[in-house]
This record gives sequence, C-alpha cells and structure tokens, in this order.
Amino acid sequence: MPVKRGGRSVVTVEIFLENYEKIKQRASQKRLNIKEYVNDFLQVYLEKEEFLSRVAPFLSVDSYEGNRITLKDIKKKILVDVFYVNGELQCDIDQTNNCIHTKFIWMIPEISKIKTNGNRIKE
Ligand SMILES: [Zn+2]
Repeated sequence: MPVKRGGRSVVTVEIFLENYEKIKQRASQKRLNIKEYVNDFLQVYLEKEEFLSRVAPFLSVDSYEGNRITLKDIKKKILVDVFYVNGELQCDIDQTNNCIHTKFIWMIPEISKIKTNGNRIKE
C-alpha cells in the first residue's frame, strides 16, 4: 500500500538479509543512504532492461548450463549457443567473439550464471 513520504509515494518491501548486507555495504561506500542506493540501483537496472529491449528486441535467454548460454534469436528463428572460453564469449553460429549474440550476453544479468572455471578476461 503506497504512502506519502517526503513528497513521494513509497511502498515497503522485504529484502533478504544476505542482499541487504551487500546493499548496505555498497551504499556506505557511495555515501548514500540505503533507500537512495536501492532506488538508484533499481532505476539503472530497469532502464538497462528497457534499453536492451529497444536495441535487441529479437534476443532473449533460452537456457544456460556450465560455460554455455543459449539465446533465442527470433529474427533468424534459431537458438544460438554462446560459450565462455578463455575469458571470451564465443558464438557457435557466427564463429566469432564479436557478434550481436556475444555483445548481448555481456550486457545481461544472466551472464553471472556462466561457469568461468577461473578464466579471466584477457587484458
Ligand atoms: Zn552470434
């Protein structure tokens, strides 16, 4: 139920303790209070998702396992396997590390599901 606070409508939500502790630490590093930090975080996240659906509305995640993410490409009407190998994303269809599929995966939060086996990005 929204209430008015400081001239804005707000709602109360429950945040899991493990997430709260991380958020609290990051907020303090940025010298923001937790409410400001969480709202900035959510706004940037939502805007990023909206941006991605504007620039690549034809791509979405189908599944992931191990070092692979499979994308659904409805423009080409195919599933595309992309593998994380030696610090790079390799597209199975385009045989490159620099196509729309690899670029898309670098931008999405699901990238955190990839098993990296300790391989870092090459500098
Ligand atoms: Zn590709």
